[in-house]
Amino acid sequence: MNKIIQTSLLLILTVYCTAEVLKNPTSYSSDLYEEMILNGNYDSLIDHPNKFLDFNYGERVASPEQIENAINTYKNQSNKIKVINYAKTHEGRPLHALIISSPENIAQLDEIKQNLSTLSDARITNDREAKKIIDSLPAVAWMAYSIHGNETSGSDAALGLIYHLIASNDPEVRNLLDNMIIVVDPVMNPDGRARFAKSLEQYRGTAPNYDDQSLIHTGDWPYGRTNHYYFDLNRDWVYLTQPETQGRVSLINEFKPQILVDAHEMGAQDTFMTGPAREPINKNMDRDLVKWGNVFAQDQGSEFDRRNWRFYTGEWHEDLYPGYSFYVNFKGTLGILYEQSRMAEDGVRRPERTIQSYKESVHHQFVSSLTNLNTLLNNSKDMYNDYWEARKLNVSNESKWANQTFVILPTKNSSRINTLADKLKSQNIEIFTNKKNINVKNVLKQTGDIIEEFNIPAGSMIIPNRQPEAPLISAILEFDAEIDEDVLKKEREATLKDGSSIMYDTTAFNFTMMYGLEAVTVQK
Ligand SMILES: [Zn+2]
Repeated sequence: MNKIIQTSLLLILTVYCTAEVLKNPTSYSSDLYEEMILNGNYDSLIDHPNKFLDFNYGERVASPEQIENAINTYKNQSNKIKVINYAKTHEGRPLHALIISSPENIAQLDEIKQNLSTLSDARITNDREAKKIIDSLPAVAWMAYSIHGNETSGSDAALGLIYHLIASNDPEVRNLLDNMIIVVDPVMNPDGRARFAKSLEQYRGTAPNYDDQSLIHTGDWPYGRTNHYYFDLNRDWVYLTQPETQGRVSLINEFKPQILVDAHEMGAQDTFMTGPAREPINKNMDRDLVKWGNVFAQDQGSEFDRRNWRFYTGEWHEDLYPGYSFYVNFKGTLGILYEQSRMAEDGVRRPERTIQSYKESVHHQFVSSLTNLNTLLNNSKDMYNDYWEARKLNVSNESKWANQTFVILPTKNSSRINTLADKLKSQNIEIFTNKKNINVKNVLKQTGDIIEEFNIPAGSMIIPNRQPEAPLISAILEFDAEIDEDVLKKEREATLKDGSSIMYDTTAFNFTMMYGLEAVTVQK
């Protein structure tokens, strides 16, 4: 053997040996957390999530395709699940809502939706009919995960939740399905999640990486938060500019759920936060929902305490802007926020030197979901009664919205005003127009000026505030959202002190101003 061949063989052998060493990490993130997330008594005819993954469930981020494969299998394996494809993303990925319930409830879905629709309009329904409907209705929950694509643990929890609900033989789970329609929207932003999952693939090393400053945890631009066009889908719930939101909102408005869970993630060194929101809370929101928010948070907190998991409530989450998922709060649905500290993969080393694993973060989201479903089961009828009272108020003479009408003046820019009209109709808001001019007194202009005598020209778009969706109408069309003075004071103090703000982000959102359309508010 000549020397060159000898050297080459030695080199190849060295590279091979080095690769072998690198293939065996010094530790495994699977060793960090030993608790089982899926520990029920399951039907063996339904495939465990592991079947669709190339890792053990909960230990890594499942790709949108892996979750989709599971959904497509489950819909054939179980009669407790009905899949609705409600939209397609810009990159062509399907968006699924999974209706999970007993086969009997699923067979009656149209009737249940019809009853919910009747209950939502107090102009055509009386107390006696409402009571009958409430007695017959199952609870309805909407469980939605990972609208921000790089906040991944929610969708992984959703995959386990779907399996747990359809495969479990436990009487508690069966009772849940007998009495509840659970809609799971497992991956709200598949394009963003796919982008992030790809980056994990590229930045993953052979050994686990627990440093949250490393690229695998921080990600890099354009990150996975937004959708294909880099829209933040969690600001789009009333403007409805993206296909994901358009399909989703239309379906949510059809189902009129009692709760809507929106599962996110936050900074890696944080813990877990759930609702309810702190001030400023939009004044158009039904205060009963704040009360119910506390009931759900109490149960969720007790469950976290029982498991010795860290969490907090009632901090930075405010609820002024109606374009978050909490637009549902203006329609009588309780929005519940989860914010889990983010560990993209493996786990993250915390200030106290412990390592929190990705699997544990998935477990937090999973347990939160089941806990909230059980709280709903226990309180559904009372929540329906409050809902009915609120729907009656929306169309009564006594509400603060009763004597207020929004008028959008005619414009030559028909595409703009028609687009706005479409958004309002998507939220079941009723719109009228006038054939003749109408003279009115004391109208409020967008500038805040009051005009004593005003002529509403024929062909204006008229939206009386006294109608079933009164709170949402006021929230998106009023020119100036009211905030309590002590809250404004706190905001000013924060700004003067260190330039900070108690606002989360969006503070201006009036629909007509956004579309550049002239509008007035008429008080009668
Ligand atoms: Zn988020």
